[in-house]
Amino acid sequence: MDKMCNRVCENIAGYESDGILQSQLWKKYKLSSRDGSRLALKLERMGMITREKILEKERWTYKLIIKKTPISTKSIEGSPCLTCPVEAKCSLDGEVSPKTCQWIEDWVMIELKNK
Ligand code: SF4
Repeated sequence: MDKMCNRVCENIAGYESDGILQSQLWKKYKLSSRDGSRLALKLERMGMITREKILEKERWTYKLIIKKTPISTKSIEGSPCLTCPVEAKCSLDGEVSPKTCQWIEDWVMIELKNK
């Protein structure tokens, strides 16, 4: 997925199930309604969003609602697994496991406190 699609999807995802009017989104990205509509259709075909036809100020338009939230690497930034010295030995059912790992537990607790 190209960068523009990813950015737009992340933005739409921020509105969760409420969605956002496509005209509002195009203003944010300084897109013409033609380019914006093409992008919305592309995202819909990719299964990332749904387009819901609605009447807004006596005009038909579309509300864009996220279907699949794009995966962001931000969620794993700072994870101890990325620099773990025993990562090669780590598995769900192994002796070294995320189920019993103190590093991962500490990291999750810090992340939760920061949110
Ligand atoms: S879960 Fe713990 S032991 Fe396993 S890779 Fe991550 S930091 Fe290392």
